[in-house]
Amino acid sequence: MQLLEYQAKSLLNGAGAVIPSGFVARPKDTLGDLPFPFPAVIKSQVPIGGRGKLGGIKLVSSQEELETSRREIEQLEIKGHLPSAVLIEQALEIQRELYLSLRVNRDLRRVEWLASKDGGIEIESHGENVVVIPHGTEDAAEQLAKLFTVNQDELTLIMGSLERCLFDNDLLLLEINPLVVTKTGDLVCADAKIMVDDNAQFRHDNFDWPEPENIKPLGGTIGVIANGAGMAMSTMDTIFAAGAKPANFLDIGGGTGEDVFVKNLREITQLPGVTSIIVNIFAGITRCDDIARGIIAAKSQIPNLVTLFIRLEGTNKHLADELLREAGIELQPDLRTCIKLALEISEPDATPTKHLQPERALMHAQGEPGAKPWSASMYTVSDKIFKNQPVIVQGITGHHGAFHTEQMLKAGTNIVAGVTPGKGGASIHGLPVYNSVKETIDAHSATASVIFVPAKFAKSAMLEAIDAGIKLIVCITEGIPVHDMLIVHQTASANNVTVIGPNCPGFIIPGSHKLGIIASHITAPGHTTIISRSGTLTYELADALTKKGIGERLILGIGGDPVQGMTFVEALEIAENDPETNQIVMVGEIGGEGENLAADYITEHVTKPVYGLVVGNSLPAGQTFGHAGAIVGSRGESAAEKTAYMLEKGIKMSATLDELIEAIHDN
Ligand code: GDP
Ligand code: MN
Repeated sequence: MQLLEYQAKSLLNGAGAVIPSGFVARPKDTLGDLPFPFPAVIKSQVPIGGRGKLGGIKLVSSQEELETSRREIEQLEIKGHLPSAVLIEQALEIQRELYLSLRVNRDLRRVEWLASKDGGIEIESHGENVVVIPHGTEDAAEQLAKLFTVNQDELTLIMGSLERCLFDNDLLLLEINPLVVTKTGDLVCADAKIMVDDNAQFRHDNFDWPEPENIKPLGGTIGVIANGAGMAMSTMDTIFAAGAKPANFLDIGGGTGEDVFVKNLREITQLPGVTSIIVNIFAGITRCDDIARGIIAAKSQIPNLVTLFIRLEGTNKHLADELLREAGIELQPDLRTCIKLALEISEPDATPTKHLQPERALMHAQGEPGAKPWSASMYTVSDKIFKNQPVIVQGITGHHGAFHTEQMLKAGTNIVAGVTPGKGGASIHGLPVYNSVKETIDAHSATASVIFVPAKFAKSAMLEAIDAGIKLIVCITEGIPVHDMLIVHQTASANNVTVIGPNCPGFIIPGSHKLGIIASHITAPGHTTIISRSGTLTYELADALTKKGIGERLILGIGGDPVQGMTFVEALEIAENDPETNQIVMVGEIGGEGENLAADYITEHVTKPVYGLVVGNSLPAGQTFGHAGAIVGSRGESAAEKTAYMLEKGIKMSATLDELIEAIHDN
């Protein structure tokens, strides 16, 4: 979530940073005498940068001017946003404008400073003047004071406030642009942009969190419900490629209950112009029977419900089939059929859709000089994955933990025990349950752990596992705060522990064992290795390849969160070094630079054929999408840019999942 400037400044103020004196005024507020002398500056409170150039910022020097300009700004729409308030501040006497930000770098999995002595501009357009310093660098303040030519002590104070602000509030980005040097030589945070980690909502009640808004209207005729951001994006890409238009984007995530499902169907039905809804589910952690109950309830509860075309696969499909058959509701065999049927009842669209071939125009990923994200010695990592070692399950007594423990046992995994604090002494599926990882390991000498504990407790669960000597962690949990994952990543690296996930389905080696939730019946032993950021797309792809007679050596979901354990590059290295892998399939998403870094790595190190797909081609830029933690907008992070970059590096790219499935042959 992005904060408005005044909200951002209030957090900064709380952390002790110097901000201009000022106050917020809503349209209904009458302005009396200002609590500071003129000139003043009026600033439109819209979540958009570059307001200065767009008329959203005005300097005024009298009460009369203040009143007129304020009304003008209130009515000025900036890139589709009308301000709900203006910020009125005492104008600064500016000598120089600097740029300073502190942000989470998802790809390098660290916090870093970005600085430039040319502030006040769009930072992307002057990228070459930006200095990057990892957070925690001893002489960071000294380096930056030199760059800025400002007093080091004063800068150190500001940097301390920014650090507090970032870590105390779970910020992903804290950008001061400009950091002003006033004519009297003081440093003031004149503008602030803050992105807060939505996953950290549970520990911050000091923010004005917006109502979760799931349905993103896109103007087309076909409603879309899918589970998992990757699946939702892929479904949209496929609808687009068929010449139709999605009406919305909706990822129902994992474990959606009946009520939420009914609510979603109602909201999509109410979108203007919608003639049908495609429900495309490949259930992993979600259960098909839960979805079926939702559909049946919706039919009776929503009077004007549009026609549904439903495609259900995965966990508990047989239960869903039974429920739907009894209710007389038809299922479609695949997405392609759903789209064909939806097109038949959809109004012909006057506006031609542009064909979604990935653009050839290439934007380079901004590489980090000297900071290659691959380095680990992979022999040990491969060994950690391929050997069928003793495994524990943390969160074994929970809904998901219990269910998937049983599935893993059936798949041949050597699960020896489980952990649930407070439930020590119990037993589940014939396995003993302990209160702590330490106790479990003392009794069973396990080396790997699969984690199903809720997001709130996931960090401490992983740290506990590392502390107890676990060497491989597979974390299924979704919604873990980014700063928690940074700490887990640092601790894991320092202890030579491999973390897969979070927010991932884990991995399966068909015919041997699995750590996670990928259903074994959709797999078959073979020589194709699948590496994917999206859980549901992994199932979809594995299922399709298996049906085509192509077996899989390893199916590995690395998860879609911004800060993850194993990266594409690390997974590729495993596949390249694995003698049983003949070819590699890589499924990426919008957001981050992981796919671009992987493409660089493939050029330099991978000899095996690589097939690729990046989903999210049909998404508008500048939006965050569901559980993917994916933000389009940064350079090289859109699906089209990544696809183009990967094509350039010689990877066999497809534009849709269907195309990818068709392209892959046994090697
Ligand atoms: P943005 O354009 O949306 O990033 O908004 P900023 O708050 O960064 O303002 C844009 C520009 O307006 C700044 O770079 C300054 O040049 C100018 N500006 C903002 N506040 C003041 C102020 O208090 N005094 C003066 N003289 N200029 C200001
Ligand atoms: Mn600015």
